[in-house]
Amino acid sequence: MSDIPRAVPAHAPMDQFTCRGDELLVGGMPLSRLAERVGQTPFYAVDRALLNARVASLRQVLPERMSLHYAIKANPMPALVQHMVGLVDGLDVASAGEMQVALNAGMQAQDISFAGPGKRDAELAQAVAAGVLLNVESPREARALAGISQRLGLPARVAVRVNPDFELKSSGMKMSGGPKQFGIDAEAVPELLRELPALGLAFEGFHLYAGSQNLKAASIVEAQQKSYELACRLADQAPGPVKALNLGGGFGIPYFPGETRLDLGPIGDNLAGIAQDAAQRLPQAELIIELGRYLVGEAGVYVCRVVDRKVSRGHVFLVTDGGLHHHLAASGNFGQVLRKNYPVAIGNRMGQPQGEPVSVVGPLCTPLDLLGDRMPLPDAQPGDLIVVYQSGAYGATASPQNFLGHPAVAEVLV
Ligand SMILES: *Cc1c(COP(=O)(O)O)cnc(C)c1O
Repeated sequence: MSDIPRAVPAHAPMDQFTCRGDELLVGGMPLSRLAERVGQTPFYAVDRALLNARVASLRQVLPERMSLHYAIKANPMPALVQHMVGLVDGLDVASAGEMQVALNAGMQAQDISFAGPGKRDAELAQAVAAGVLLNVESPREARALAGISQRLGLPARVAVRVNPDFELKSSGMKMSGGPKQFGIDAEAVPELLRELPALGLAFEGFHLYAGSQNLKAASIVEAQQKSYELACRLADQAPGPVKALNLGGGFGIPYFPGETRLDLGPIGDNLAGIAQDAAQRLPQAELIIELGRYLVGEAGVYVCRVVDRKVSRGHVFLVTDGGLHHHLAASGNFGQVLRKNYPVAIGNRMGQPQGEPVSVVGPLCTPLDLLGDRMPLPDAQPGDLIVVYQSGAYGATASPQNFLGHPAVAEVLV
């Protein structure tokens, strides 16, 4: 045992945003002015320039022959999706509702894929009529699509979503390996592939998605390599050439103390190898990776206002007008096992020294409504603006906004 206190792990620096004086700049605008422009707190703001920069830096490490898709469930705000249409090669949707957002945003149906277990017949019919690629998740879905294709006189475009026989290691959320509700078990895929021609479906390829929120490049490389090799083995038994191979994503962003940004270098190198190999083995295949939070998460902030500053038995609580009902993930209740703090700042006191640790809470009558637990922040007063970083993904639409009947959150792209 040493007497030297262990360094408290810090959040990754939120240096994607800059400041002017004490004000955080979002979309180039001082935060206090942006709050006036929006006309209310709380709000989410996503910075277009940061979206552009993120996609540009990713393109630099991806091989040329690799398509980049945005999975819109991370943030389906229509203005944002429309902006992404100009940056990426395709959109992935997880419901017919998201499919409408993607089509309205101007992405062509050819470049939209639709995944998710339990697609209802009505949704399947909408997708066939639209002409999007359906990632088939069960034999029942394939058979339902056969009937719909015949009725509409349009063969459904299908890729088989495979539940691989491996897991994505160190993933925040595992979505493959073992028994899963996603995809078709790898060992059952050949039988479905044999059935496809008789069903009158247009086979286009495979979709593999190993998991989410991974910060270890080596684990992502391993999952992508294994996914590629599995797809090549299955391709030998497919009823036609593979035209689309979606290798998934899972790229994480640093949310919590001690986490650091993903090293893209090894991932880019490995994908380059895959692209080179695929040019021989799957010559007709478009290779795709699909990312949600990695593309948009770091570009967005959640902003709420301090309503009250309470001292309870010596501990300071900053009570805000926002909380769990708008931002479930930052409260720690969206899939976290142990609650940890998102990075938080006082957006109009950026240059000021940190004071004693305070807790940032919301207005809900539950102790779960916590945005920051004992965080050292500059001395804040009612009227100040609390910023929760890393909030561009899984924000408003992943939160129970009706809980307790407070006003809805605003969302802007700046
Ligand atoms: C959720 C999901 C994504 C996006 O995950 P992120 O962690 O936001 O990158 C991509 N593809 C599929 C199939 C998904 O279910």
